[in-house]
Amino acid sequence: MCGIVAYVGERTAYPILIKGLQRLEYRGYDSAGIALINNETKVYKCKGKVRDLENHSKGQDINGSIGMGHTRWATHGEPSDINAHPHVSMNGKFTVIHNGIIENYAHLKKELINRNYTFQSETDTEVLANFIESIYLDKKVDAEMAVRLALTKVIGAYGLVISCSDEKEKIIAARKGSPLVIGVGDNEYFLASDATPIVEYTDKVIYMNDEDVAIITRQSLDLKNIQNDQLTPIIQKVELNIEEIDKGDFEHFMLKEIYEQPNSISDTFRGRISIDKTNLFLGGIADVMPKIVSARRIIIIACGTSWHAGLVGEYLFEEYARIPVEVEYASEFRYRNPVINEDDVLIAISQSGETADTLAAIKMAKESGATILGICNVAGSSIPRETDAGVYTHAGIEIGVASTKAFTSQVTVLTMMALLLGKKRNTISDEMYYRLIDGLTEIPKKINDILSTEEDIKEIAKTYQNATNALYLGRGNLFPVALEGALKLKEISYIHAEGYPAAEMKHGPIALIDENMPVFVIATKDKSYEKIVSNIQEVKAREGKVIAIVTKGDEVIKKLADHVIEVPDTHEALAPLLTIVPLQVISYHIAVMRGCNVDQPRNLAKSVTVE
Ligand code: GLU
Repeated sequence: MCGIVAYVGERTAYPILIKGLQRLEYRGYDSAGIALINNETKVYKCKGKVRDLENHSKGQDINGSIGMGHTRWATHGEPSDINAHPHVSMNGKFTVIHNGIIENYAHLKKELINRNYTFQSETDTEVLANFIESIYLDKKVDAEMAVRLALTKVIGAYGLVISCSDEKEKIIAARKGSPLVIGVGDNEYFLASDATPIVEYTDKVIYMNDEDVAIITRQSLDLKNIQNDQLTPIIQKVELNIEEIDKGDFEHFMLKEIYEQPNSISDTFRGRISIDKTNLFLGGIADVMPKIVSARRIIIIACGTSWHAGLVGEYLFEEYARIPVEVEYASEFRYRNPVINEDDVLIAISQSGETADTLAAIKMAKESGATILGICNVAGSSIPRETDAGVYTHAGIEIGVASTKAFTSQVTVLTMMALLLGKKRNTISDEMYYRLIDGLTEIPKKINDILSTEEDIKEIAKTYQNATNALYLGRGNLFPVALEGALKLKEISYIHAEGYPAAEMKHGPIALIDENMPVFVIATKDKSYEKIVSNIQEVKAREGKVIAIVTKGDEVIKKLADHVIEVPDTHEALAPLLTIVPLQVISYHIAVMRGCNVDQPRNLAKSVTVE
């Protein structure tokens, strides 16, 4: 969570920092602040969005060609002007911005209070600023050494940018668990939580690793680890298009990303399906394929929407590759004492590749000797670097906090993996293999068909915009779609929504149904079609309102349901890729009608880099 940006060079830092923070605002947006390092360091910060910070700093001295900026997602202390970053140490020596959590902050704070340190904020970050300063003053070392010594005592996660008032020409950056990218220009350097604030100025980047410390001046970059060993920076070319970080003609990133799905799914399978559509190639896992083929079990670990994609994967792997699958919340998995065998394959799914719980679960699982794969969207992020092999989704940058195109691209990757594995294990017939590959290539066109009915979906949204609760039902591989549909609604419109396997309704949730309860039923034609028709009857018998997602031309459900949204026919294994789309669209419109901030829903942030 939280966005970090910093600049060291010849240009005026302020506009670079503000623009960078706007690009990063999807990561956290409860307060924002900047520090401009001149003869003296100027700090402007306030509760609210980056535009509030701009207003707040209007008319102030915004000169300076070295600076840092932060957009916060509060963990310690409420969003407020005082808790906003940057934090300055008590004697004014150190200015710090921080992404992450200092877990032993209470202990450090107590020690500092005993030494007469006082605190302005409730944050763990201010504790760190004072801790660094206390070492600097006590030990009479330089700023870099003070930072390194402090970090050896810190437990927790951090992406940090630090400036010392005695060494104004440099900034110090450090990372453990929270991402930081360095942009390399001519006599200038940029630093950010991801490459979006940097790409406008340079395509040369260095991804910092855990425990790296970078000491940056206009002319030099010195990369070390916390132990002071010299490291060689690896400069990479960043593949990110500036148009991708613009809303274009769309009112919100979320809607833009919903509409990008035909393209993002094509990008996911491009180059991975043979021209005659008879074969699949997944280069990223080719080397470990023998291990995957002989796996005794697949464990999928993920959080949020990625976890829902994992559940779709479970159906696919079990159906077509006949390998038992467990799908685990990363946060639960890592704190259990799970039994992981050497011949298990773990698949970690994360859009950002930085999800803290998933990353920690991977690190824990490594000791078991199991093969660990990643399915991530952001190239060069931490999870792809921690795993043995993996497949990128290539969905393009996703900025809307509610994930849409990342989900369908993850499901696309899982589909390809399951088919490929089935083929190699001889558990899928050639006929089915070809049919599903072909079916997959038809999905983008079919999503375009669904999107062409947006106005009809919007009409349905009008009817339910004032709902206080909603149920989502699905069976088989459409049950995870029900979960994902419910998540979309609750996260952006704040309507309480639950997803259930349709048959579970009678074991409890049916008690909730009355004439005010909208029930979204995903009821496309598949092997459990008759059963879900019965579930719709059960809802109607209790006066619930049914909004059914059906296969084009379905006359049976049309007669029963209050509303139907048609999707084109496809093989049932691929139905999640189509049926989720109208649910994304309806959630979007309901949220807009309720006046919610769709791209930045309250309390949330895009990539969850804290536990
Ligand atoms: N733990 C810090 C705070 O609460 C940083 C949170 C963040 O990553 O934005 O201020």
